[in-house]
Amino acid sequence: MHNENMNETKDRHGKVVIVSGPSGVGKSTICKEMAKRLNSVYLSVSVTTRPRSQAEVDGQDYWFISENEFQQRIDKGLLLEYAEVFGHLYGTPKDKTEKALKAGKNVILEIDVQGAKQVKRIYKDAVMIFIFPPSQRELAERMKLRGREGGQSAEERLEGASGEIAAAWQYYEHMVINDNLQQAVSEVVEIIQGPQR
Ligand code: 5GP
Repeated sequence: MHNENMNETKDRHGKVVIVSGPSGVGKSTICKEMAKRLNSVYLSVSVTTRPRSQAEVDGQDYWFISENEFQQRIDKGLLLEYAEVFGHLYGTPKDKTEKALKAGKNVILEIDVQGAKQVKRIYKDAVMIFIFPPSQRELAERMKLRGREGGQSAEERLEGASGEIAAAWQYYEHMVINDNLQQAVSEVVEIIQGPQR
């Protein structure tokens, strides 16, 4: 292996698992459920400049921070990756993920395709999973139910979803359809536990 992350790769034991998919597909639920079924899992909590919705808890769903604070974290190199999604910034705190990996935990990153590409450049053996909705119509229904989030309408999010799905075919090695939650969770757990490399 000839890259600057050689030592990092040699020292750690946990796997980096990237879970992506269009908004409304059920990524968060799948990640929470699989964390219950797997031992030694660290579910990363991202930082974001998106406004917090009523149902969300700061420090649990996201760390909600200002654009200024976000920029400071970028400048200080505190983020493993970051991207702008639907007009807001989202990023993965670096220190917590590294610490969890060193402790032998599997680190689950629920991030978009742009972020996934950045992480894959750093952790070349990261497991990449893309969650699909059972159909475009089903996704549209779920988005409408969720209503306007982060200032974005269901239509805008659906448009973004098409771009993500197109990119998924190119970059992701594992695809899971969230038709039935428990089955989708089982598939993801199998992917993580199975022989990856
Ligand atoms: P939402 O606003 O619906 O919670 O998230 C919008 C999108 O941002 C989703 O596709 C989600 O996966 C992505 N996202 C959440 N956290 C991060 C992050 O830390 N980095 C990146 N690149 N994307 C993220």
